Amino acid sequence: MKAAVVHDFTQPLVIEDRPLPVPAPHQVLVRIEASGLCHTDIHAAHGDWPVKPAPPFVPGHEGVGVVEAAGDQVQHVEVGERVAIAWLADACGRCDHCVSGWETLCLQQHNSGYSVDGAYAEYALAHGDYVIPVPDGIDPLDAAPLSCAGVTTYKALKVSGAAPGTRVLVSGIGGLGHLALQYARIFGAETIAVDVTDDKLALARELGADHVLDARTQDVAAEVQRLGGAHAAVALAVSNASFQAAYGSLRRGGTLVLVALPAKGKLELPVFDTVLNGTKVIGSIVGTRQDLAEVFRLHALGRTRVIRETRRLEEVNACFDEALAGKVSARLVFDLR
Ligand code: NAD
Ligand code: ZN
Ligand code: ZN
Repeated sequence: MKAAVVHDFTQPLVIEDRPLPVPAPHQVLVRIEASGLCHTDIHAAHGDWPVKPAPPFVPGHEGVGVVEAAGDQVQHVEVGERVAIAWLADACGRCDHCVSGWETLCLQQHNSGYSVDGAYAEYALAHGDYVIPVPDGIDPLDAAPLSCAGVTTYKALKVSGAAPGTRVLVSGIGGLGHLALQYARIFGAETIAVDVTDDKLALARELGADHVLDARTQDVAAEVQRLGGAHAAVALAVSNASFQAAYGSLRRGGTLVLVALPAKGKLELPVFDTVLNGTKVIGSIVGTRQDLAEVFRLHALGRTRVIRETRRLEEVNACFDEALAGKVSARLVFDLR
């Protein structure tokens, strides 16, 4: 099979032929149809984060495809079924986090395309209990971005407290942000979209943002305070300055949800203001299998639109450059069919 492999954090990915993997008793072998390019894959390939993956590895955690073979312990997933491979490759299933609906916090988890090989390949192995069925009628090219960008922002909006009557700032209208904006509307909030490229600002308007701000030319915090301040701000831009602006946009009692993970990500919190304003700052990491099932259901109902362009896996290095230059319409998806 063909796979895109990271050998070194400072070198381009290499397209290689690898032997077809054989599923262990608890695993499925998935023939990948579509594989999304999440900004996290770029962080992984560059070794940006304190906990680094170990090269050689295959990135990719927005993998969608058809089960080609299953180990004999896998009872509930059929050969021929379409499934998604998300960031949470597996978890222990027994700890307090796992049994209380917070499997994404499990200390023993593995992560697709990071600590285990991911979906930038024609085939991938996955744990039978952790693949998520993709409902019929959802285009695999849509299902792929929903598997990370979708579930992550759906969960971030859940924990943000967004509801009718609230005002929600979405900072960064990229792969994650264009879906965050749609979930904020689904949750009933008045929405403020922020970005730094003309295309993304136009996309935000097209997707129905109530207010659109250009962080290149506008003082985001001041503009949002003029509107009355945000009840919640969801930080999705790969920029420390954007975290500060999102924090400054909050009204008293507001919630900042940190999601983006720039290399050396930092936010300076003024303790006095945070205390007096009763500000909440929370981190949010992807979402559970249940969250993703809900994301797929909303999409099947026609409530969300995935903005994406398809590419060939061989173009992966040029795709990373495109994404870093902010030239992607929202999400790039490798079509492996
Ligand atoms: P992306 O590159 O598609 O989108 C980033 C967007 O931010 C772009 O539209 C860019 O123009 C915009 N931007 C840049 N500077 C800005 C600024 N100062 N103000 C406002 N907007 C600005 O990236 P993505 O795939 O959406 O991922 C975003 C981040 O989220 C990455 O760091 C990724 O690793 C992280 N991520 C986190 C989780 C999680 O579970 N916490 C999950 C997936 C991705
Ligand atoms: Zn991701
Ligand atoms: Zn666990």
